[in-house]
Amino acid sequence: MSQSPDAIIIGTGVIGTAVAFEMAKAGWKTLSLDRNRQIGHGSTAGSCAIIRMHYSTFDGTAFAWEGYHYWRDWPDYLGLGSDTDLAKFLEVGCLVMKTDANGHLFKHIENSAALDCPFEEWSAERIIEKLPIYSLESYAPAKRSDDPAFGLPNDTQLKGGVYWPKAGYVTDPALSSQNLADAAKLHGAEFRLGVEVSEILSEGGKVRGVRLTGGEEIHAPVVINVAGPGSSIINRMAGVLDDMTIETRPLRQEVVHVPAPEGFDFEADGTIVSDSDIACYCRPEHGNHILVGSEDPPCDTHQWVEDDSDYDRNFSDQWTTQAMRYAQRVPGLKIPNRTRGVVDLYDASTDWIPIYDKSSLDGFYMACGSSGNQYKNAPIAGKLMAALVDYCENGNDHDSVPLQFTLPYIQRGIDVGFYSRKRPINQESSYSVLG
Ligand SMILES: Cc1cc2nc3c(=O)[nH]c(=O)nc-3n(C[C@H](O)[C@H](O)[C@H](O)COP(=O)(O)OP(=O)(O)OC[C@H]3O[C@@H](n4cnc5c(N)ncnc54)[C@H](O)[C@@H]3O)c2cc1C
Repeated sequence: MSQSPDAIIIGTGVIGTAVAFEMAKAGWKTLSLDRNRQIGHGSTAGSCAIIRMHYSTFDGTAFAWEGYHYWRDWPDYLGLGSDTDLAKFLEVGCLVMKTDANGHLFKHIENSAALDCPFEEWSAERIIEKLPIYSLESYAPAKRSDDPAFGLPNDTQLKGGVYWPKAGYVTDPALSSQNLADAAKLHGAEFRLGVEVSEILSEGGKVRGVRLTGGEEIHAPVVINVAGPGSSIINRMAGVLDDMTIETRPLRQEVVHVPAPEGFDFEADGTIVSDSDIACYCRPEHGNHILVGSEDPPCDTHQWVEDDSDYDRNFSDQWTTQAMRYAQRVPGLKIPNRTRGVVDLYDASTDWIPIYDKSSLDGFYMACGSSGNQYKNAPIAGKLMAALVDYCENGNDHDSVPLQFTLPYIQRGIDVGFYSRKRPINQESSYSVLG
C-alpha cells in the first residue's frame, strides 16, 4: 500500500471512484479513502440511478447527454474482463409531463434540440396508450397531506408530455462504483476502506495531506473532496468555505417502493416519469415494483441534516404523502401497510447545481453539491476533474481563466467555470432535484 500517493481522493461513491479511474488512467498514483467498509455504500447505494437528459440549463443538458454515453458503453468504458459482474443500464425511456411548473418544457425541448438529443412530443392519448394505469387529472399545485384540498383534482387535465427514449436507469448503483474502482485498480489506483478523514493538513497555503481518526497522517500534494453529503464537513476542515458563494448541505430524502397495480407489468412495460403536477418522479423497480421519489415541491419542508453520519433513517409521514401523491396519478395503486424504500441524503448545493472546482487552498479540490442529480454524470465528472487537476497543477489559474473542456462523445466545448464554487447563484436552475 503506497503511503506517498500523488493524490488522495476522499470518498468511494460513484463520483469518487470515477475520479480515481480517470486520474489513474491519466497517470496519477491515487489513494482513495472511505470510512465505509464497502465501496459505493454512501449515498450512491441509495440512489435511484436514473440516467436522464432533460435539464433546465443548456450546460446541464449537455453534461447529462454526454454522461448517457458512458452508461450505454459501460463494459467498453471500464475495460474489465468479460467475466466481471457489471451494473446494468436499462434504457426504458423517460416521460416528462408538460406543466406550468416546468414551463411546458419549452427550455428543455430547446436544449435537447440544440444538442441533437432525441426526444418525442407525446399527446395525452399517447401517454395513456403507454401507461394505461394512469389518469391525467391535474392536482397542481402539490399540497401537504394535512391540506383539506389534498387529493382533490383541479378540474383540468394534463395535455401531454415529452419522452426522451434514450433515458434509463442503472440496476445496482453500488455495484457501478465497485466496477469503477476495479477498473481504476487496473491502472494502479489504491483504496483504503474503514478509515475516516478527521483533518486536512496544510502548510503555507498548500494542502499537505490528511489525518485519519486515530492520528495516522497520509501526505500528498493533491487532495480531492468527493465526500458526498459529508462534503461541507471536509471543506470546513480544509478552511476553504470563505470564498464560496455556493454552499453544500446534507438534505434528507425518502424514496417509496410500491407494487405496481395488478394486471400491469410496470417493470417490463413502464418507463421513468417525471411529473411536476404531483411533484413525484418514478421508475420501474425489480419485482414489478414502482419506485417513487419527490420533486421537492415548495409546500414540503426541507429536512436539513447537520451531520451526514447521524440522521433519522426511519420513514416518516413523507413516505405516506409521496405514496398518496403518486396514487393521484395511478388510481389503482395499492399502498401497502409495510413501508419499503430508501432513506438517504442529497448533498444539496445552494442552486442545486454541482461544484466541480479547485478551492482557495492550493492542491485542494472538490467534486460535491451533487444535489440528488449527478449519479448519471459520474464518469464525465471524473474526466472533468482529472482535466481540472491537471490544468491547475500545471500553473493555470482556473478562477480567472477557467478551464475550457471538450465533452468527448458529443464534441461540445464547455466552460468549467459554470461549476465554480464562486459562481453567482444560477437563476435558470429549477432549485430542485431536477437541477
Ligand atoms: C435518494 C437518492 C436518489 C437519487 N437519485 C438519483 C438519480 O436518479 N439520478 C442521479 O443522477 N442522481 C441521483 N442521486 C444523486 C446521486 O446518487 C449522487 O449524486 C451520487 O451518488 C453522489 O456520489 P458521490 O461519490 O459524490 O458521493 P457518495 O456516494 O455519498 O460517497 C461519498 C463517500 O464519502 C465518504 N466519506 C464522507 N466523509 C468521509 C470522511 N470524513 N472520511 C472518509 N470517508 C468519508 C462516505 O462514506 C461516502 O462513501 C440520488 C441521491 C439520493 C440520495
